[in-house]
Amino acid sequence: MAVANQIGLNLARVRDQVAAAAKRSGRPEGEIQMVAVTKYAPIDVTRQLVEAGCSVLGESRPQQLWEKVDALSELNVHWHMIGHLQRNKLRRTLPVVHLLHSIDSLRLLEAVHAWAVDTQQTVRILIEVNVSGDAEKHGFQPQEAAEALRKTVDMDFVDLRGLMGMASRKGDELIARRNFRDLRQLRDRWMKEIPNCPDLQELSMGMSRDFPIAIEEGATLIRVGSTLFDGIDLST
Ligand SMILES: *Cc1c(COP(=O)(O)O)cnc(C)c1O
Repeated sequence: MAVANQIGLNLARVRDQVAAAAKRSGRPEGEIQMVAVTKYAPIDVTRQLVEAGCSVLGESRPQQLWEKVDALSELNVHWHMIGHLQRNKLRRTLPVVHLLHSIDSLRLLEAVHAWAVDTQQTVRILIEVNVSGDAEKHGFQPQEAAEALRKTVDMDFVDLRGLMGMASRKGDELIARRNFRDLRQLRDRWMKEIPNCPDLQELSMGMSRDFPIAIEEGATLIRVGSTLFDGIDLST
């Protein structure tokens, strides 16, 4: 099957699943935004994904992000950075990114803040929380995340929009649901307890294998990659 047709089918399937999960949980579908994660896809397949209607794209590695931003500069898309970002890659990354999902240390937060003040450009961020406890995962432990959150209250050019999290790699659906629920409950608690807490409206959670559960637990941003490319040869 032609790549464009296969992408169309995959996208329709994911959108149906999003709609069904929204309906099950009594949420308006418009509350849920899909970030199409293109890290597995070459440039031409990424372009076809945009032509099929995806306008929010995510990359997890800075180099690949820069490469795609350059190659696809004629397209009208918002790029999200969803993976670990080293401080020495900030300067080249922040100007091209609409939302940075992966603030995972105080040092990174402070470097982002310094860049934002320097350039007088507001940076939209999420704080990544390690809700699964998986040792190999990035993200703050919940206690430390609250501390980072308190710091952002006084950071004028840092626009904190919410939290990001991932389900345990080894867990089943029940564990994924618990991880997502934990993230939502942390959000609710911090918004009550932290003085002048910004409006943490975004919850970035859910990937190909668990996005319907994440939606049921309150996700506003789902980060969906591999399932969009089912049946497509990505080796080019
Ligand atoms: C790769 C990646 C995704 C997408 O994962 P899929 O299982 O391919 O949907 C989501 N979030 C992050 C942080 C990723 O690195």
